[in-house]
Order: sequence, then C-alpha cells, then structure tokens
Amino acid sequence: MGVAALEQWAVDHGQAAFRGRQLHDWLYAKGARRLADVSVLPKAFREQLEAAAPPSGSADWIGRSREMHRSVARDGTTKLLLGTHDGLSIETVGIPAEGRLTVCVSSQVGCPMACRFCATGKGGLQRSLAVHEIVDQVLSVREAMEQRPSHVVFMGMGEPLLNSEAVLAAIDCLCTDLGMAQRQITVSTVGVARTLQQLAELALARLGRAQFTLAVSLHAPDQRLRELLIPTAHAYPIAELLEDCRRFVAITGRRVSFEYILLGGLNDQPRHAEALAQLLRGFQSHVNLIPYNPIAEEEFQRPTPAAVEGFRRALQARHVAVSVRASRGLDADAACGQLRRRLEGSLEPAPAGRA
Ligand code: SAH
Repeated sequence: MGVAALEQWAVDHGQAAFRGRQLHDWLYAKGARRLADVSVLPKAFREQLEAAAPPSGSADWIGRSREMHRSVARDGTTKLLLGTHDGLSIETVGIPAEGRLTVCVSSQVGCPMACRFCATGKGGLQRSLAVHEIVDQVLSVREAMEQRPSHVVFMGMGEPLLNSEAVLAAIDCLCTDLGMAQRQITVSTVGVARTLQQLAELALARLGRAQFTLAVSLHAPDQRLRELLIPTAHAYPIAELLEDCRRFVAITGRRVSFEYILLGGLNDQPRHAEALAQLLRGFQSHVNLIPYNPIAEEEFQRPTPAAVEGFRRALQARHVAVSVRASRGLDADAACGQLRRRLEGSLEPAPAGRA
C-alpha cells in the first residue's frame, strides 16, 4: 500500500488520516516487521490491531516474510531464504559492490520454464509472488545488510513475464515508497511469447514511463541450440523474440540487454560468438556473458577463462557492447535456486529478531 491507501486504511479503522502516513513511514523507511513495533501509533489501536491479526501473527498481516536461513559469502554476498505465509520459501540475494547494493529478487516461488542449467527450474512452479512479497525481499536485504539497496534485478527465482502485473506494481512501490530509481531496476526474462509488448504498454500505463532495463536471457545464437538449453523456446522462435525486443525498444525508448550463459564446450566457441554478433547486427544492445555456475543435477561444464575471454573479444571485435558478469558468492550456493534446493525440508524458521 502507498500513502493514499494507508491513509484510507487508517480512516476505515476509525483513526485520523495522518496515522496512515505514520504507518507508511514505519513500514518503508523504518522497516517495521509487526504492527506492535509501530510505537508511534496509539497503544490501544495497536492492541486492537494485534488482536485482529491472523493466527500466524501480524508479520504476515503487514506482508513481511520470515528469515529461514542466511548464507554470507566471503565477498559479502548475502543470500536469504525467506519463508512465506503459506509455508513456501524463496531466495533473495544482496550483492554489495563499490558503493552499490544490488538486490536480486524472486518473482515466483519456483519456475515453470525448466531451463536445463537452472536449479530453480528443477522443482517446477509453486505459485507467483504477490506484490508485497517482492517488496519484502528488498526490505529484508536492507535489514540483513544494514545498507540501503541501490539496484534491484529480477533475476532470482521465477519468470517475471509470467507475473507482470505484480512485478510492475512492485517496481512502482520500490520507486514511490522506497525512493528507488526505475533506471536502477532490471527485469530479466527468458522470453514468453506475446508478453513483451504487453509489458511495455502496461509499464507506460501503470508507471507513467518505462525506464527499467529489460534483460533477455538469450543463451544461444540459434534456435536449435537454444531449444536444447531452454525447452520452452520451441514455442517462441528466436526471430520472433528479437522482433518483440525491437518493439519493446520502440515503445519504451530503452535499450535491451541480452544475457548469455557460457557453458563449457557447448555454446562458448568462437563460432557461437560470431553467430551471436551476426544475429544482433544493427540492434542497439548490450550482451552480458554469464559463466555457468555448476548445479548438482546437470553435467554442464564451466567455461575456461580462455573461452570466456575469447568469446568477449570475438563480440567486441564485431562491435557488440559486451561485459562479463563476475561470479559473486560462489561459496554461498550462488546459482539461482541452489540454496533452497540444498536446504529444502531441513529448516525451521529462524528465531524472530535474529541479528
Ligand atoms: N527467468 C528469468 C529470470 C531468472 S534467471 C530469466 O531466465 O532471465 C536470471 C539469470 O540467471 C538468467 O539469465 C539465467 O539464465 C541465469 N542462470 C540460471 N541458472 C544459472 C546457472 N546455473 N549459472 C549461471 N547463470 C544461471
């Protein structure tokens, strides 16, 4: 809820409208976890609210999750396993880097896309996340790392384009209520047919402008290889995906970036770089190379450093803007969905108020 909705909520509960503004400040700026913590509200009102909270407690009621597990890598990358009100868990990661704090958020519990190299894809989809469950992840990382997040990337569990409405509402909340900038937000998709134009139009309608970055997980320079890695790609030919990206650029005026996972020996050879450059010719874009993070279930190989460098150079030589994503938090089960898979079933919620 934004300020206006909270003001209305306060009035509906027999309070003055400014109580809603106070609550807004405590929820977003101060990160209250329970209504009982909001000491600025009159005690009698707090007690009345606590009494009306669901049996699971008022943390659920105001939309906060429980921290089930925290794993901190040597480089400071902090991965949280968060428990939802209905007993499911999701991952969220805080990635610190020179003055920045990037939060990698999940948009769904699990994922139905089943990309072969992805740990999340192995467990299928449980459900999509609600707006508050997305925003909560950013608040939870801020609390855990005692630092204000500067960037948010929708690169955790799930396929954001299958939950566009909630993703856009969460972006709206992050910008309006938490003061983040849309330009510091990235939405990553593996591509779902007939959804990109809708995302662009919905963003313009809802947010007034679409300034977040769209990142498309391409991963292969041709349809055959792409389908091998991404089974769902058969329903969305690469040419159509790129056409939709062009349309997204036309509607929003923003560049699209492409993610390309490098799998040793499979898609990391110079001929793949050449084909990729050919495919993206004339497209104002940026390619982000992601060396594969090994997951337990698959036999894929990490690319050699020489292959990564060779691929980068081959793209650069063909005038493709390219960067290599540094692997962060490798000792903290860095690959998407890994932590949850390893810990599944073996965890109780962490005690409340854990440091
Ligand atoms: N469903 C969306 C967002 C979640 S995945 C998408 O596919 O874009 C975010 C990024 O992490 C994607 O580019 C995905 O391909 C990448 N990824 C998934 N598993 C990985 C692994 N084991 N190693 C490296 N990158 C991985």
